[in-house]
Amino acid sequence: MAITLQKNSLKKRSIDSKLLSEWDKQWVWHPFTQMSQWVQGDNLIIESGKGNYLQDTNGKKYLDGVSSLWCNVHGHRVPELDQAIKKQLSRIGHSTFLGLSNVPAIELAKKLIEIAPKGLTRVFYSDSGSEAVEIALKMAYQFWQNKGQKKKKKFVHLTNAYHGDTIGSVSVGGIELFHDIFRPLLFETLSVQAPYQYRDNFEGSEEEYTQLCADRAEAVLAKHSDEICGLIIEPLMQGAAGMIHQPKGYISRVRALTKQYNTLLIFDEVATGFGRTGRMFASDHEQVSPDLLCVAKGLSGGYLPISATLASEEIYDAFLGRLEDLKAFFHGHTYTANPLACAVSIANLELFEERQIFKKLPAKINFLRDQLNLFNTLDHVGDIRQVGLMVGIELVSDKATKRPYFLKEKIGIQVIEEARKRGVIIRPLGNVIVLMPPLSFETKELKKLTDVVYESIKKVTSE
Ligand SMILES: *Cc1c(COP(=O)(O)O)cnc(C)c1O
Repeated sequence: MAITLQKNSLKKRSIDSKLLSEWDKQWVWHPFTQMSQWVQGDNLIIESGKGNYLQDTNGKKYLDGVSSLWCNVHGHRVPELDQAIKKQLSRIGHSTFLGLSNVPAIELAKKLIEIAPKGLTRVFYSDSGSEAVEIALKMAYQFWQNKGQKKKKKFVHLTNAYHGDTIGSVSVGGIELFHDIFRPLLFETLSVQAPYQYRDNFEGSEEEYTQLCADRAEAVLAKHSDEICGLIIEPLMQGAAGMIHQPKGYISRVRALTKQYNTLLIFDEVATGFGRTGRMFASDHEQVSPDLLCVAKGLSGGYLPISATLASEEIYDAFLGRLEDLKAFFHGHTYTANPLACAVSIANLELFEERQIFKKLPAKINFLRDQLNLFNTLDHVGDIRQVGLMVGIELVSDKATKRPYFLKEKIGIQVIEEARKRGVIIRPLGNVIVLMPPLSFETKELKKLTDVVYESIKKVTSE
């Protein structure tokens, strides 16, 4: 008893919350952040976490309403995941994957192929979602080069797409706000208007809408099929665009079209993968298999940075040849297939079965849907979009005309600040309030999350 007490008090003294806050403002440059505002605000510093909660350096607890930016799956400090890292650490922290292999990376590859959409047979590792996309693009490009179809060099993507922040993945992105400044550095692409039923003002049936959206894709593919090497999309739900979902049948239609027009299909499931949509992958909702699949965020359960690009045997085969043919895929990173990250990813995947995640998810998803229905009564909630546990609530300054709020009104930011006061961490995408709880949220936590967000929206938009 005496020992624990001493330990605790030691721990308390070792963290000087105020000093850390000053150092953070003095030495750190944060991602996607206007730092001139950051240094004036209250910077919340997370010290620990447990289950579905985060705790700051002042001891205040917060519900983790966006899964620590869409990557946490089973909660924080999950005993099985902590243990997997410790066990691996007692063997080795890292060794290179260039010219050597390692135990957990091999085991994880086998596991990934077992759960992936059928037809995907090879796993290429990297460290982030952006890199997984970058690799898929390079593979698709080189695939046609290796096969002697030299003219097939262009990529097709959806408007408003987000595939990461490296130059290649930004090239196939379409979010003006993030990407415009870099336009001159990017390679040329073709874009297809993305489904966005609310802003399309489409009043017909879902089937008709699917047809309309598929026709838009076909127009581009038909016109340019000679020069297109691949089409990339986030299946079912465009995340960073503002949680914009696609109508039923759309991804199957896109699959059929890419086959018809002889181009590769790349699914970016960095956000939608690992149970987020209610199935292991978004592809599973329509039994669609892409030629290349990018996964990251939830792969390690939100513990360590790791990603993977899964490829079909046909793609893999096109890279085989004699050494001097130079058909190999020349790409790799220092930390590719890091053993600690692979070990925790294996344990993360095992937990899906052990915790019977897919048995429990439907009830949670339905509960969340019922809760979100209540938001329709709010005057400034224009559209509510949900796929599984991925939610976007689009706020509008006028519901009848769907007029958006101006950026400078900072409506999303105000809402998340209100939520934070009430002990909930969320993050907006412009005027869209995003909820993406870990799969480990229980109904009472889903209730708290939605109650707090409801109150926060009401407070901010009625002022
Ligand atoms: C987050 C995200 C990425 C980028 O992943 P990082 O690990 O942040 O580089 C790519 N695609 C999608 C769909 C994402 O949501």
